[in-house]
Amino acid sequence: MSNFIQPPHKNWSIQVKNLPDAKIRDKWLQFNNKSPYILVKIGMTTRFPDQRIKEWENKCNHKLINVGPRNKRFIYKQNFLERLSCLSIQDNYERYRDDGFFVNKNLKLVESSIHKALKDKYGKGDVYCSGCLVDKSVAPKKDSPFNTSYNVHTEWFLILKKEIEQVYNIIDSTCVNLG
Ligand SMILES: [Zn+2]
Repeated sequence: MSNFIQPPHKNWSIQVKNLPDAKIRDKWLQFNNKSPYILVKIGMTTRFPDQRIKEWENKCNHKLINVGPRNKRFIYKQNFLERLSCLSIQDNYERYRDDGFFVNKNLKLVESSIHKALKDKYGKGDVYCSGCLVDKSVAPKKDSPFNTSYNVHTEWFLILKKEIEQVYNIIDSTCVNLG
């Protein structure tokens, strides 16, 4: 979501609870671009990533940015020493092309394996989205945490910004091994 990278105003935030480093459990806290974490969505398409991203944007009414390796700087800016130590390890992903990671086969299996690997590493969270609620008069579900009928999205992962390259590596190696 673009707002995590370029907030629309300085007080912009979403509400989160039970982040990995939360001192208090089950309490809603502010979450914005200053957090060391970021929420990212990883999904598959049989077309170009930008076309799929446009569809998500239109559905959810939130602006989105493709944060693949080409846009890594939006997520995490390395400091001078880190850049120096990584000089020999250029971003070199076997399956990165046209702003996405591609497979030749097993698209669904590759996606579910990537999701599982990320879930094992980072855990899982549901995202309650006010943007794509079609009918605001719909009665909230009984288990809705806000007593609203916000749409619930899965497939979002809370990752440490400084570990974004590890996420790229998980995606790339899964594409190589299974796809
Ligand atoms: Zn949505």
